[in-house]
Amino acid sequence: MEKQVFDSQKRPLRDLRISVTDKCNFRCQYCMPAEIFGPDYPFLPQHKLLSFEEITRLTGIFTSLGVEKIRITGGEPLMRRNLADLIRMIRQVDGVRDIAMTTNGSLLARHAEELKAAGLDRVTVSLDSLDDERFGRINGRGYRVEQILEGIEAAAAAGLGVKINMVVQRGVNDQDILPMARYFREKGHILRFIEFMDVGNSNGWKLDQVVPSREIIRMIHAEMPLEPVNPNYYGEVASRYRYAGTEQEIGLISSVTQAFCSTCTRARLSAEGRMYNCLFASEGEDLRDPLRAGMSDEELREKISAIWTRRDDRYSEERLKHTPGISQRTKVEMSHIGG
Ligand code: SAM
Ligand code: SF4
Ligand code: SF4
Repeated sequence: MEKQVFDSQKRPLRDLRISVTDKCNFRCQYCMPAEIFGPDYPFLPQHKLLSFEEITRLTGIFTSLGVEKIRITGGEPLMRRNLADLIRMIRQVDGVRDIAMTTNGSLLARHAEELKAAGLDRVTVSLDSLDDERFGRINGRGYRVEQILEGIEAAAAAGLGVKINMVVQRGVNDQDILPMARYFREKGHILRFIEFMDVGNSNGWKLDQVVPSREIIRMIHAEMPLEPVNPNYYGEVASRYRYAGTEQEIGLISSVTQAFCSTCTRARLSAEGRMYNCLFASEGEDLRDPLRAGMSDEELREKISAIWTRRDDRYSEERLKHTPGISQRTKVEMSHIGG
């Protein structure tokens, strides 16, 4: 690393989340509701997406400013053709210490081995229920649980680190909290519960649909006693617990009830090459056109450094103060920047 940049709140730039496509084979109601993301939805044409070469070049510039961890996301990242080639290219970039991917898992069984061979370290698989009917409804396309579980086991068998993310919504899948906890405890995978968030403008978010993490802990603890685990590193987003007397952990990502903006070190790059300083940002800054217009690495570096340096975003910390007006703000859609 040549230089570590800090934002206006003294937060270092450490992580880069790269969305490689805005398309997805699911239509999760909370992310890409089918009524809005229908057959005529104008997804990005190929030429507007950053190419693998462009993503790799930008990754190199980001690492020169402090980024060490890369997360590939989407849309559904495995919808992007030849994704393993991109992983291989990013793996070669100086300063990249860790490459992870967030996926819905539906195409994972097919790709796990080649992704591991290309240099992917870890996957986070999103799964919100073990009940086929509910899961089919949540994913909006009738996909079955079994297909995702196969993806999870294929990833583990290939030697990838595996975590499971469950977005909990009251009245939708809160009855799945305990079955999910029991199942993944038995399987030995870390399950993380995520509070439902008001991302984008189309998911119809209401505060009373959020199941606070402390309620989830209470519920699990009553059946399977838990004890807290100290954070691994600065900026870790999940609070960690383990089942008492074991090494098996769960995590809670309390984006709504216990915001963690003060240690947020994540920048985001959308599939069309815009840089966002926050999951809830209204505006990203275009890097693609300058890159295609021939800007040098040094000039791009200056530009990215300037964007991060003036960053003061802390949306989640401010959310609860501003909830009544929250829906008036126009935010980027989750499927554009990948969570
Ligand atoms: N398609 C991939 C997937 O589902 O894992 C990657 C992209 S998805 C946008 C990234 C993560 O954001 C998923 O774990 C998803 O469950 C989560 N997510 C989407 N909308 C959300 C919301 N409104 N609140 C909380 N998490 C959300
Ligand atoms: Fe697709 Fe992931 Fe969004 Fe669901 S959460 S619609 S799988 S991008
Ligand atoms: Fe980071 Fe924005 Fe989320 Fe806060 S709201 S943790 S600043 S992405």
